[in-house]
Amino acid sequence: MVELRTDVLVLGAGMVGVGAALHLQKRGRDVILIDRHNLAGEETSFGNAGIIECASVFPYMFPRDFGQILQYALNRAPQVRYRLGDLPEFLPWLARYFLASSPERALHSAMAELPLIRRSLIEHEALIAEARVPELLRRTGWIKLFRSDATLGNAVRELDRARQYNVAGEVLDAREIAAREPNLTGDFAGAVYLPAPGFIPDPGGLAKAYAALFGRKGGRFLVGDARTLEQSGSRWRVSTDDGSVTAREAVVAMGPWSDQVFGPLGYSIPLSVKRGYHLHLRPRGNAVLNHPVLDTDQGYLLAPMSRGIRLTTGVEFASRDAPPSPVQVEQALPRAHALFPLGDPVDATPWMGARPCLPDMLPVIGKAPRHAGLWFDFGHQHHGLTLGPATGRLLAEMMTGETPFADPKPFAAERFD
Ligand SMILES: Cc1cc2nc3c(=O)[nH]c(=O)nc-3n(C[C@H](O)[C@H](O)[C@H](O)COP(=O)(O)OP(=O)(O)OC[C@H]3O[C@@H](n4cnc5c(N)ncnc54)[C@H](O)[C@@H]3O)c2cc1C
Repeated sequence: MVELRTDVLVLGAGMVGVGAALHLQKRGRDVILIDRHNLAGEETSFGNAGIIECASVFPYMFPRDFGQILQYALNRAPQVRYRLGDLPEFLPWLARYFLASSPERALHSAMAELPLIRRSLIEHEALIAEARVPELLRRTGWIKLFRSDATLGNAVRELDRARQYNVAGEVLDAREIAAREPNLTGDFAGAVYLPAPGFIPDPGGLAKAYAALFGRKGGRFLVGDARTLEQSGSRWRVSTDDGSVTAREAVVAMGPWSDQVFGPLGYSIPLSVKRGYHLHLRPRGNAVLNHPVLDTDQGYLLAPMSRGIRLTTGVEFASRDAPPSPVQVEQALPRAHALFPLGDPVDATPWMGARPCLPDMLPVIGKAPRHAGLWFDFGHQHHGLTLGPATGRLLAEMMTGETPFADPKPFAAERFD
């Protein structure tokens, strides 16, 4: 078989890899996108809550409140669970996460990510228009419900802080919640409504629509195993179902599996995962959910997806490859049934995915420090659907020598040396 040659190999066709491939293509690069699946967006980018979180200027850091930490430690919080057997593997990473979550360092992460967050919806709007799938972006914003005055108070203070960065938000009382979501039942202290974020009712479908756009513009998508990546002279080679392909440059964008490529190359970047689950349920009768709704104190979210009402869970600390343990789905189900008229499940079993995370909740974007022509674009934590196209732009600007729209230094792999 003849060896295929191209300018750039992008490894991984989730929202992050597809975003990078499109931005490189726009800058005149011939790109081959490689995934182990024969379609884009089949993994984490399929299963998320669908929110383009352009109002989430503060990343999800480790809590500093003792009561909350105790609840987490006792495995009693619905928002966060851990698998006891996997704890030894996680503890050193959790310690780094805790240290990176001091108020000063958390603010550093927020400010580093802010230009990307601000750019996130703009990038999606442009690609959605180009891909001609306007039906995949809904202008709903989202709602965070609170059942206690204390948690509502914290959220209102956080909203006030976010307002300094031009985030729009409204605090809703019970009557205003009912006006926006007439089918919700519960004893709410109040809610925060964030009007700006976009909602994607089929996140996997959006990654596929972007991959189709990439294909229409001449990009090639091949099925292959990125773990076969090897350096061959001044080029990078990967084996695919269509034979081997080589390129001057390669981008590692395999989300939670990125360590399978950077690890063997000798990089010890502390990539870990926060697992999460979803389950679709049919709404009962004519019940309609107008926005994604986070039941904050009970630790789950309901989103009105094309496939049904998607219940997503909070964080599970467990090994990426450990068998599923959807305890949080089981805990959330009766609470969700009490909140909204839900009928039968659409899925036979819950879906499981893994948010790829670094301890400072910032992605790794930029050059691999010790390998010419190798680039990193992974670790998008809770915000990979949101940030895939924006980080794709940043990476492509760096790779083609343009002035980057955001300071790339905070995302460098060297920060872990
Ligand atoms: C429950 C849940 C809710 C979430 N909600 C949101 C939200 O509302 N908004 C938001 O912005 N983010 C959300 N996220 C986070 C978001 O989904 C992720 O950050 C994002 O999907 C990561 O994208 P990715 O492209 O890096 O990874 P992925 O989508 O996992 O893509 C990685 C790709 O690499 C491929 N791959 C892996 N190994 C190989 C190999 N050896 N060879 C070839 N290919 C390989 C995989 O097949 C896959 O296609 C949520 C996550 C979860 C779990």
